[in-house]
Amino acid sequence: MFNILEVVLESSMSCMAPVYVLIAVGLIFAVACAYFLVLLPEIGSKHGGNTELFHTCVGVCILFNVIFNYFACVFTSPGTTTEMDLEVLHSKMQASWRFCKKCNRPKPDLAHHCSICRKCVLKMDHHCPWVGNCVGFRNYRYFFLFLMYLVFGCAYAAILMALNTDTFLNHHHRLLWFRMFTMVLAAAACIAVGGLFAWHCFLVLSGQGTIDFYDNCESFIAARRQGKEYSNPYNMGPVRNWKATFDVDGRYWWILWMLPSLRRKKGLGLLPMSVEDGQRVTMQKHRKNVLDMV
Ligand SMILES: [Zn+2]
Ligand SMILES: [Zn+2]
Repeated sequence: MFNILEVVLESSMSCMAPVYVLIAVGLIFAVACAYFLVLLPEIGSKHGGNTELFHTCVGVCILFNVIFNYFACVFTSPGTTTEMDLEVLHSKMQASWRFCKKCNRPKPDLAHHCSICRKCVLKMDHHCPWVGNCVGFRNYRYFFLFLMYLVFGCAYAAILMALNTDTFLNHHHRLLWFRMFTMVLAAAACIAVGGLFAWHCFLVLSGQGTIDFYDNCESFIAARRQGKEYSNPYNMGPVRNWKATFDVDGRYWWILWMLPSLRRKKGLGLLPMSVEDGQRVTMQKHRKNVLDMV
């Protein structure tokens, strides 16, 4: 009975993906319309053309990044074992890898089988219904940047709307409901997505994904029971974790990570990052022999 329910739920998630995407795009569109078509003209009439131009530029910049990262996350494959050449996969295989009977292929460390996508996803973070795709090795950075710009954009719009409520009440009674709805929507999205964004900041800085976090917690508790210590073997320190996640390096990495880019993520995704510091590993549950592999 439980299995049938699970199959029905997974199939409906897969079928409903376009609906979730449409809802997400619709909500972003509603806030953008309220911002550009209702709020900015008010600001222009109250504070002058230069102020309106400034907020228009900021709005366009944020909206472009929200839309760019959203659709890049939707349409970029997270990286799956079925996309890889079987010979390459076998040549890279390590003793710690498991085997996925559903894909009939080896399953690298940190890869997980997504029952909705029906594939083993490399460094799988989670399956996100709002982007209708798994978030993993190749599209995680788009997902993170989408959250970041969405939170920033919603906060910016909600604060500007709240600050200019008096002008609006005096001039635009017809659009009051729309303006109030989008202001509450932007504020609610900012709080809800803000929590998720803070959580992913922690994950990136600590060198783990959502699923890895729970695995690491399990390993930590198991090690504690045995009187041992466990530390995440993939944690290279906050800065290197950040650079590896966004695939940036060099002098300007601190600005490059947040800029829109469709460059393909480097590496095969068999490991999220090249881990060289073997001293960090004090206990590995299913992760033997992975430290010298890229
Ligand atoms: Zn699989
Ligand atoms: Zn999936």
